[in-house]
Amino acid sequence: MRGPEPDPAETLRRVFGHEGFRGRQEEIIRHVIAGGSGLVLMPTGGGKSLCYQVPALCRPGLAVVVSPLIALMEDQVAALRQQGVEAGALHSDLPPQEAAGLRRSLREGRLKLLYVSPERLTLPQTLEALEQRQLALFAVDEAHCVSQWGHHFRPEYRDLAVLAGRFPSVPRLALTATADPRTVEDIRLQLALTDAPVFRGGFDRPNIRLEAAPRGEERAQLRAFLAEAWAGEGAGIVYCGSRRRAEETAEWLRADGHDALAFHAGMDADAKRRAHRRFARGDRVVMAATIAFGMGIDRPDVRWVAHTSLPASPECWYQEIGRAGRDGLPARALLLYGAGDIALARHRIEQSPAADEQKRIERARLEAMVAIVEAATCRRRLLLRCFGEEDGPDCGNCDICLSPPRLFDATVAAQKLLSAVVRTGRRFGIGHIVDVLRGRLTDRVAQFGHDRLPTFGIGSDLPDRAWRGVARQLVARGALDVAVENRGALLPTEAARPILKGEEPLLLREESLPARPAPRASPPTPPPADADPALFDALRAWRKEQAQAQGVPAYVIFHDRTLAEIAARRPASLDALAAVPGVGQSKLDRYGAAVLAVVAGQARR
Ligand code: ADP
Ligand code: ZN
Repeated sequence: MRGPEPDPAETLRRVFGHEGFRGRQEEIIRHVIAGGSGLVLMPTGGGKSLCYQVPALCRPGLAVVVSPLIALMEDQVAALRQQGVEAGALHSDLPPQEAAGLRRSLREGRLKLLYVSPERLTLPQTLEALEQRQLALFAVDEAHCVSQWGHHFRPEYRDLAVLAGRFPSVPRLALTATADPRTVEDIRLQLALTDAPVFRGGFDRPNIRLEAAPRGEERAQLRAFLAEAWAGEGAGIVYCGSRRRAEETAEWLRADGHDALAFHAGMDADAKRRAHRRFARGDRVVMAATIAFGMGIDRPDVRWVAHTSLPASPECWYQEIGRAGRDGLPARALLLYGAGDIALARHRIEQSPAADEQKRIERARLEAMVAIVEAATCRRRLLLRCFGEEDGPDCGNCDICLSPPRLFDATVAAQKLLSAVVRTGRRFGIGHIVDVLRGRLTDRVAQFGHDRLPTFGIGSDLPDRAWRGVARQLVARGALDVAVENRGALLPTEAARPILKGEEPLLLREESLPARPAPRASPPTPPPADADPALFDALRAWRKEQAQAQGVPAYVIFHDRTLAEIAARRPASLDALAAVPGVGQSKLDRYGAAVLAVVAGQARR
């Protein structure tokens, strides 16, 4: 019944419409086709799916893909079906009719890929049914869910350990974007992959512009960012520190005229699913969310991701911003943070009941994150170093590279600030300290007699903003602590001593200047210069109708990038259309004539 096994490169071209493999994809795919197991570490958007989808089509039998989220399964299945691949998802929300259809194609051996949740897969009846079948492979997506060190621990993932014993001859491929060594070891151990190779993909995502800034007027900062970062279509995500903040942010964004939704773990499963769907399918939609919004964001045209508080680690940050620009087009990431975030995160770690070893790891991760936001050198280099990448040149696509900060000798300013903190009794937050330094006779200053201190008014030479910058940078360096339980009172630490004594010069970033000139806006999203904008719009309109008629996200029909390429090349024949990246055989059969008609219709004008 089956012919010779298809060639992976040919499968990539014919089914997925891609010209060639990226990074280590080919190596991984050939390894799995030859029957090997392994662990794949690649950043979000790095192209993990093809690492199991291509072997699934090249090996005989059924490929079983473990996925933690229904929304994720559904979108992947929709995309595969568009590509002419028999795929299905087995989960608890499946309508009975579809479940019956799925069982039938499974029985008849037509199904190539079965997406399934870990709890479904490890049910005795599922395992028994699979033992009757020829299996191409097991893929465990979002494999960090198996590790309690990961930030998405799912106890059900632990049960996947049975796969190695019950299906010893079936290759198992685990995939994750988490590269933290502890989590990696845990995955290998839990999924019995200790003898299998680890494939570490390139972690750089050069199309994402990185930017971090102290949080001031948060809304004004976000508005300015959106005005610059979001010229065209696509979607955006604002990560917020709490459920309430996510709701509030969605609200003001809506008042600003955006199609904004909220997402957080406090919502019921149904509301979450609806939000997920609307995000997956909407045009110019914003999600204001907690980090609960993560897995299953598959749309390739997320144009920007903003954070309104400090992420817990570089791994978390990179995973979250990695959701932007999967289509390879320019995308933006903005991180707003404050001294309070840093202090709060430190306190949380110290107060957590975790074991010392675990605390040590979390501390190191947090400090790496602080170093990135307070950097005076290329942020991407610092970030990639956290993932064990070799040190490369400055990236040219982060705010530091685009507009290097000025450093100034802050030794005297820091001494003034620290002495104001000490003389006021280590009981006051930054607001009051700045009032004292600037010599403002507020009610509180008068009430505590702080106008009689020698430090009163010694800082009138610098604006508030500069003082806040000095305080924040001292917190980041660990010279100042913030008493979280005492309304943010500043406390000098041991590390403040050499600064007070003037033993080491202190260079800090200048923040007293008016806002730095904004880096030049990123090039607008497609169409590229050589694409015909009218044709691009016409193709998008056609795609929208198709997507609505079929109830699938627009990008599973064609990516923006593919439409832009069609609008540039103006193919006049099916052969010419087939040569456009992103147009595989199935899509050519399905949509070729319609697309050519749109092109021809526009050409006549
Ligand atoms: P991940 O699962 O690692 O986050 P995906 O598998 O979703 O990433 O891939 C990200 C994007 O890159 C997708 O839009 C996919 O179509 C595209 N892609 C992956 N591999 C290739 C390739 N070899 N050529 C062209 N596009 C690719
Ligand atoms: Zn840089």
